Amino acid sequence: MIDASPHGFTGRDVPPASVYDQCVRCGLCLPTCPTYVETLVETSGPRGRIALIAAVDAGRLDLTSPGFVHQMSECLDCRACEAACPSGVAYGQLLEPARTQIRRATADRESPLRTFARAFALGLFARPAAMATVARLLRFYQRGGVRAFARRSGALRALGLERLEALAPEISDRFFTPSDRVRASATQPAKATAFLHAGCIVRVAFAAWNDATARVLQRCGCDVVSPPSQGCCGAIAIHAGEMDRGRALAKRNIAAFERSGANVYVVNAAGCGSALKEYGHLLADEPAWATRAAAFSACVRDVTEYLDDIGLAPGLGPLAGTVTYQEPCHLAHAQRIAAAPRRLLASIPGLTLREMNESSLCCGSAGTYNITQPDMSDRLLVRKVDNVRAVAPDVVATANPGCALALRNGLRDGAPVAVKHIVELLDDAYEAYSPTSRASSARAASTLG
Ligand code: SF4
Ligand code: SF4
Repeated sequence: MIDASPHGFTGRDVPPASVYDQCVRCGLCLPTCPTYVETLVETSGPRGRIALIAAVDAGRLDLTSPGFVHQMSECLDCRACEAACPSGVAYGQLLEPARTQIRRATADRESPLRTFARAFALGLFARPAAMATVARLLRFYQRGGVRAFARRSGALRALGLERLEALAPEISDRFFTPSDRVRASATQPAKATAFLHAGCIVRVAFAAWNDATARVLQRCGCDVVSPPSQGCCGAIAIHAGEMDRGRALAKRNIAAFERSGANVYVVNAAGCGSALKEYGHLLADEPAWATRAAAFSACVRDVTEYLDDIGLAPGLGPLAGTVTYQEPCHLAHAQRIAAAPRRLLASIPGLTLREMNESSLCCGSAGTYNITQPDMSDRLLVRKVDNVRAVAPDVVATANPGCALALRNGLRDGAPVAVKHIVELLDDAYEAYSPTSRASSARAASTLG
């Protein structure tokens, strides 16, 4: 290994040889890799990418060579290869450091505009108040007639913003605002105090997910807290090759959880959950944080995993219709949770689960991938939409905001298909059992519309 090579990996966050040396080049991961399945090119698959990383580490390939940079960017970080690998190659522990190394080596070559855009975007995720301000502006744009004018006038195309605008999430009417209040369990004493991760995009664009998660946890016997001292999980930064930025965000969340008095950290966004469960690894080489980070990660649960574990409270009402399940990569592959979401869906009376083909193949959203790799992203979304349409569901259930966004965009044309988080369907089913207000009755009735 040539650590000191000017063209190889240096300093902190070197992809470990102990991980890539575990690859025996069997190729069993190839059929699970979305970019390999689409291209059938060896270097566009996990085995090829692992070989490229090993070649850089050995000084045989330049870290900043176009081919290497392209393959590290074209990879979705979906981790399907990791779940399929019989040798246990922890692919994520190779890719994220490799991207971080590229980022550090190329930062000074970036155009000022690109540097500003990157810093602005990542800074937004780190500052909930700034994210809320931008979200309010976007909501005004979306609701105020400005959008229709901008689209009609051709201004978006002229500014090169057409794709970005189309991919932007619809901002919620009301944001989810973390606070210090405790939402009491429906039954006392509570089984646990659950810390609800508010997220960054979720709190402004999928606020209903957080409200539904809190209500279902309360029904199922948990006190729920979601204090304002928490922040973004850091996944977007880490996937973008900014592991140090991710570490700073991780420390904030660990401290927030420690202060909260909660004993379980519940997450309804699979990408966030995956990152939060890996804080122990992310901070393993910082003596002041390693133990705290490992203890924190041991308390993190995806909401589907947790509800399946503690058991659903009785009182689910019927939701007539068919549902198909789109498996978020970071739930199915990174967290290896596949059965619990299906068990929860199957527990809703009247709802028929109809499996789609390739349910765990990435939809192409993958954080900012749909912006940075538009061609491959679009190919994967078309493939996903075809698989959804083939089973003609009333609703697609998922558990990650990126998947939900991609599916809503992809399913915009044609027969209407609703896109919902699993916990929203559970919440609707509880409301359908005992509607207590006009609003809740309407919500239950329109669940699958
Ligand atoms: S399945 Fe694992 S060991 Fe086999 S080629 Fe893929 S990464 Fe290497
Ligand atoms: S993370 Fe996903 S896209 Fe990347 S190599 Fe593995 S399977 Fe392929």
